[in-house]
Amino acid sequence: MARSLMSFFVPGGLLFLAAVALAASGLPSQAPPAVMTLAPAAVWAAGMLLGWRFNRSRLVFALVVLAVADQAIGRLGGRPGPGEFVHQAAALLVPANLLGIFLLRERGVVAGRGLGRLAIILLQPVVLAAFHFASPAAVAAAVAYPLLAYPILAKAPLPQAALLAFTIALILFALALVRRRGVQEEGFFWATLAAGGGLLVHPGPPATVCFGMAGLILIVAVIESAYGMAFRDELTGIPARRALNEAMLRLGSKYALAMVDIDHFKKFNDTYGHDVGDQVLCMVAAKMAGVGGGGRTYRYGGEEFTILFPGKTAREAAAHLETLRETIAGAGFVIRGKDRPKVKPQKGQAVTASRKQVTITVSIGVAGPGARSADPQEVLKAADKALYRAKKNGRNQVAS
Ligand code: GH3
Ligand code: MG
Ligand code: MG
Repeated sequence: MARSLMSFFVPGGLLFLAAVALAASGLPSQAPPAVMTLAPAAVWAAGMLLGWRFNRSRLVFALVVLAVADQAIGRLGGRPGPGEFVHQAAALLVPANLLGIFLLRERGVVAGRGLGRLAIILLQPVVLAAFHFASPAAVAAAVAYPLLAYPILAKAPLPQAALLAFTIALILFALALVRRRGVQEEGFFWATLAAGGGLLVHPGPPATVCFGMAGLILIVAVIESAYGMAFRDELTGIPARRALNEAMLRLGSKYALAMVDIDHFKKFNDTYGHDVGDQVLCMVAAKMAGVGGGGRTYRYGGEEFTILFPGKTAREAAAHLETLRETIAGAGFVIRGKDRPKVKPQKGQAVTASRKQVTITVSIGVAGPGARSADPQEVLKAADKALYRAKKNGRNQVAS
């Protein structure tokens, strides 16, 4: 719980608070104009470069929305008349577009579809401006149209349609966040709040700080998700081999390493199909992640996992591993049947019952640094040898 809250607030929430504090401090207005021009330009440029190289079109599109809003408000927002209209239109278009972009699937930036999406984003302010030019009063009235007649809302700093768009966007981001707990969802949530700040503060440098920070939040989210991809196993969601390698560099002199291998998994795959095998891998990984004794679980590769026990001897770790082995053997994994399989099952693949209980066992080898070698790589080899013994002695057991 504390961990999820932490990952929710850091760094998106912190950057949002920094934007609010900066915008409220009056510092941006005292900064040299060159800084207030170059700093956001650096954010847009760096972010678009990143989005292009990482193939994250959503980042690019969102930055375009923020940059256009920043420019429009910075140049026109403070003025009476059309300035007010620009401000209100931006307040409506920014959350609506961020939400639309969030709901898009990644399709690349330069592909035909990507260019079409870019055109749609850029055409909105142009079309609104054209309408406004033709009939200023009617368009301004439409953007500021009061949906509800409550006196409190009449005093609201933004038009009701804009408030509604912000509310819907934030609620949907929050729901997606609860469901997926992804850094992208976090990024869009905090970036939208920061952009909202940019529309509430004084047009000019304080607003620019908020929009720039919104862009920065989205950039950091993309970097974080790329980092997460490298260190987290995509299928099971637990740390991957790369994370294990890093952790092995930081080990002290007392630790234990265990290699865990699922028994007869090839046969299991052959019987139930690869998709069901994947489901079982996820369930076994979840059980392993809950191992006691401070053990940290990594997916070593395939159906092999490594559990690292910092500060424990092999004997101490073995007790926790024995409990884990029993838990897995007694779990009786329920396989969710797909009533309508996406891929047509091949011949020999059993996808009959919609819920089926299967028993899975694992073999475990554990080792610690001995008199001969404290090198984690050697210890890992020793654990692998122990695992081999566990397999040879009949599987479903812990060997050290
Ligand atoms: P043993 O008890 O000796 O470990 O037998 P085994 O069949 O588990 O051993 P082996 O290492 O020969 O087979 C591992 C199998 O694990 C091969 C492959 O089909 C399966 N496997 C590896 N990675 C994945 C994966 O990501 N998903 C699925 N579904 N299966 C995988
Ligand atoms: Mg294996
Ligand atoms: Mg195996």
